[in-house]
Amino acid sequence: MNASISREHQFDDQVVIPALGQQLNLLGFEPEPAVLAEGTYFDAPTVDLDSYDHVVVCVSGKDSIACLLALIEQGVDLRRVELWHHRVDGAEGSTLMDWAFNDSFIEKFAAAFNLPLYFSWLQGGIEGEMLKMEAYSKPHVVETPAGTICLDRDTSRTSPATRRRFPQQSANLATRWCSSAAKIDVGRRAITNQGRFLGSKTLFVTGERRAESSNRSKYNQLEPHAVDRRKGRLGRHVDAWRPVLHYSEEQVWELLARHRVEAPVPYRLGWGRFSCMTCIYNSPKVWATIQKYFPERVTPIAGYEDEFGCTISRQKINVVDLSATADAFDITDLDALAQGRQREYTLPIFTPEGKAWQLPAGAFVTEGCGSV
Ligand code: SF4
Repeated sequence: MNASISREHQFDDQVVIPALGQQLNLLGFEPEPAVLAEGTYFDAPTVDLDSYDHVVVCVSGKDSIACLLALIEQGVDLRRVELWHHRVDGAEGSTLMDWAFNDSFIEKFAAAFNLPLYFSWLQGGIEGEMLKMEAYSKPHVVETPAGTICLDRDTSRTSPATRRRFPQQSANLATRWCSSAAKIDVGRRAITNQGRFLGSKTLFVTGERRAESSNRSKYNQLEPHAVDRRKGRLGRHVDAWRPVLHYSEEQVWELLARHRVEAPVPYRLGWGRFSCMTCIYNSPKVWATIQKYFPERVTPIAGYEDEFGCTISRQKINVVDLSATADAFDITDLDALAQGRQREYTLPIFTPEGKAWQLPAGAFVTEGCGSV
């Protein structure tokens, strides 16, 4: 059997047949071919990585790090891989949402793997968008191999609008607008405004896992990305792939341990996820922890809640009162705590030789701190 036929059989075994079976089981039917949109697979733990010209890995927390490591284990050609990160606070001075060290951490992470890194962001970040009053949203800024581009908004089809309230917890992205405004829209425009993605194949890699929520349990593992135009005049072929969609959290930590990648700081502090530090999904315990160890991060949030007359919590309790209803994590990792307060990331990316890799305090913690 030649290599390509073998690969096709493997693809059928691992992708096509399980996807069909899964769909049928969900529907409770006897086997009948399920219909998925062309190019869409419910299960696709491996793909033909060599068929892509660009592999974009969106990096943030442990699951996206696991994506990169899974790609490496699957033999990806690292010359085609680039890392992207959407700055939720932008780069104009806002410090409302993100961890202080995040940009520096991502830069050092990319350097440790010798990979190009491109930041992109909504000018002014989530804070700027939240303060919008009878105004248009700010431009997007995208770093590219050819330099940084600033993408103005199309004001011909929209009207000025007012937000002046925090995004609210919801599966609806119009209500939980932070995810769409600060990440999803930025990523889409970063693809659609770069000519290098035309007439080529791009794999867009993100780190969602089915075990995180019932919503994510229904995600397809491989599908055409929202900006895919493979059949159009532009020939822009973009696949969205979630290589660790089927992983348990245990498998994610095992992968990091195998590659001796240190658990990022938020997990070492007890957080179960590496999202915005002041995420709208933070539980009272997480707010209590921020109030105890990083009180300067709670004050501006509470100030905006007062100013808007609208709290993050649906129970109309502001973050200060919310934090008083729970006990903080007991942080014992003092290196991580010191790092949590600094902008410059100074801890190692890989566990130094002679030191045992450590499972962090936040492993398997289910305390709310990030959208699902
Ligand atoms: S991490 Fe939380 S606050 Fe940040 S964009 Fe996602 S849902 Fe919004």
